[in-house]
Amino acid sequence: EKLSRNILVTGGAGFIGSHVVRRFVQKYPYYNIFNLDALTYAGNLENLKDIQNSTNYNFIKGNIVSQEFIIDLFGKYDFDGVIHLAAESHVDRSISDPLSFVRTNVIGTMNLLNAAKSVWKDDFENKRFYHISTDEVYGSLGEEGFFTESTAYAPNSPYSASKASSDHFVRAYGETYELPYIISNCSNNYGPNHFPEKLIPLFINNIINSKPLPVYGDGNYTRDWLYVEDHAAAIDLLFHKGENHNTYNIGGFNEWKNIDLVRLLCNIMDKKLGREKGTSEKLITFVKDRPGHDLRYAIDASKINKELGWEPSVTFEEGLEKTVVWFLNNKEWLDHVTSGAYQEYYQNQYK
Ligand code: NAD
Repeated sequence: EKLSRNILVTGGAGFIGSHVVRRFVQKYPYYNIFNLDALTYAGNLENLKDIQNSTNYNFIKGNIVSQEFIIDLFGKYDFDGVIHLAAESHVDRSISDPLSFVRTNVIGTMNLLNAAKSVWKDDFENKRFYHISTDEVYGSLGEEGFFTESTAYAPNSPYSASKASSDHFVRAYGETYELPYIISNCSNNYGPNHFPEKLIPLFINNIINSKPLPVYGDGNYTRDWLYVEDHAAAIDLLFHKGENHNTYNIGGFNEWKNIDLVRLLCNIMDKKLGREKGTSEKLITFVKDRPGHDLRYAIDASKINKELGWEPSVTFEEGLEKTVVWFLNNKEWLDHVTSGAYQEYYQNQYK
């Protein structure tokens, strides 16, 4: 059915949000997509240059922390659905400034929940509040086991604590006020437009510039990695076909120890840059561990796989290669985001 709908995407100028916005704008020309973003250091309209003139795309600059602004916005547009991605997203930043994570991730989410609840009142037919979250809310695993949708929350960083808190509020609004919601908890994403404070784009940028590759601890931290467009596809599927009052885990079935991932990336980069094999690996340096660092995350994504048939479309090697090629072809993007404030942040982080 080609139902015209007004959909609010928050954080659409960020890494994952930009892929979600692009997918929805292109795939659903009969939807109106509203991208609400405060354009913090992580938000970048360059991520959406290719679709910015589409007639079904609207950009709104604004901050979800402002209750007044959000109430106003929901009064002005008749949103049928919310896909909420806006967040402070970087664990290291949450360690130095936890309160800003509470403001955006908890209070910001509350403002959206309250606005949706009051505008939709009890007429929840065809409405949906979709909250995007992370597997980090589950805490850390040992060598074995997986996070499932029923794993107890045990967040270890201020970032994951703020996301866990927002997840709980979304669920509570579903239970208390019957707000139709979905939550998904996804593993680490990578791909085009990834801000170079995160491991993969940081290392791609450093390899290009022959700078050291700072690996935390002994490099044995294990993460599950998912190509960002596969996450956007899962979000699309859940938004349309997921069941209200449910949470879904999304993952890549793709666990890597950091050090092995870095070696794989070094090999791909050597090939792409025409450097002798082994050149980039020489840049690896081990640095002091992050406090409260979780040893291993691994997601059991069998619910979304069995119920809705979702699975990743690319292997890690394919996705990494696509990512490297994108960064090499988009030097201008990389130059823009790594100038100014980024330098300051980088110097402080790795001094
Ligand atoms: P990001 O930091 O790249 O983007 C966040 C976006 O939100 C930016 O465009 C920023 O300008 C905007 N924003 C921040 N504070 C805001 C505010 N107060 N008001 C309005 N806009 C604001 O983050 P990302 O990696 O794309 O993550 C998006 C969402 O997905 C987050 O909720 C994150 O918790 C979740 N998530 C991320 C990953 C990952 O690997 N990156 C994995 C699982 C879940």
